[in-house]
Amino acid sequence: MFKAPCITPDAVRMFQDLVNGARCITVAAHAHPDGDALGSVSALAWWLRERLGKDAAAIFPDTPPDTIRFIVPEGVPCLCGDRDPEACGARIAASDLVILLDCRSFGRTETLKDLFSASPARKILVDHHLDPDCGAFDLVFSTPDISSASELLYQVLREIEGSAKALPAVTLRCLMTGMTTDTNNFANSVFPSTMEMASELLAAGVDRDAILTDLYNRYRENRVRLMGCLQYEHLHITPEGLAYMIATREILDRFDAREGETEGLVNVPLAIAEVKMSILLKEDDGHFRVSVRSKKGWSAQQCAIRWFNGGGHENASGGKLFWPKDIASPDEAAAYLENVSRQCLG
Ligand code: 5GP
Ligand code: MN
Repeated sequence: MFKAPCITPDAVRMFQDLVNGARCITVAAHAHPDGDALGSVSALAWWLRERLGKDAAAIFPDTPPDTIRFIVPEGVPCLCGDRDPEACGARIAASDLVILLDCRSFGRTETLKDLFSASPARKILVDHHLDPDCGAFDLVFSTPDISSASELLYQVLREIEGSAKALPAVTLRCLMTGMTTDTNNFANSVFPSTMEMASELLAAGVDRDAILTDLYNRYRENRVRLMGCLQYEHLHITPEGLAYMIATREILDRFDAREGETEGLVNVPLAIAEVKMSILLKEDDGHFRVSVRSKKGWSAQQCAIRWFNGGGHENASGGKLFWPKDIASPDEAAAYLENVSRQCLG
């Protein structure tokens, strides 16, 4: 049985003591939550409620996109910082335990970071990014050598319950969904432990076909056409091997694009032999949201840190590009990316 080095008997005991001793527990993840954030938070909140009878609720800094909202099961109370900041503040203030998943620090909860940081609650981190902010937590489970926060959480819960089969079915489904999205359906970040987890969850009855249908076969037609348009008309490839696409507000509006509907697109240009790195910019208010992906041997992470006020994993990172701080106006994004290409890949 694979087990991350951070899952020591002492750490697991402390996890159990902290959750058993808590009455009101808030489980949270990063801004603009992705499938791993929603899956890991939901899996844990469900387990805390069903198995331990705790008052456990989920908080997401931003409302989950419609495309992956299904991951959060009915029955998990869920607050969103963008919709209801007062309720999030009250919930955090009332919590005696906060568990943060799928990010290295409270900074990644953006609008909620001060509320979390100021809270006197005990704090646990379960994450798979480099450089966890250990000083901010009473207990940290962290390793980058794992597919996802969902996989790391699975190992913690399996340690407590003994086997996958002992865990609630809803928890298992959420964990499988989170792991599937973070590995891009087993295309990257797959470790031997990831396959072991998949095997154990399938044996325990998780319906992977249903998860795949929900994740990948329920797109709106507009989304497929938007992705086609960006690839056909707006894909640029530099001489150094950077592929980039800029989804301006105008393009996004033309296809009535909704939050989450460009998910996965940044990976596509890596299919081209000459491409070493792929960047997608998506226009937002006063900034572009940036996704960076790289092939082995080139660091998406270093690129995101150096050029896009961000970070993440070695080959999958993200950040933001602000105007007028980083570029004078959105029109200058292409020139900025051409320079990034020369600096990072030249
Ligand atoms: P995505 O491109 O799917 O939005 O993000 C890929 C990865 O980049 C995420 O899993 C996360 O680790 C990281 N990431 C995305 N946005 C940010 C950001 O604004 N700041 C930091 N530090 N990391 C980010
Ligand atoms: Mn993750």
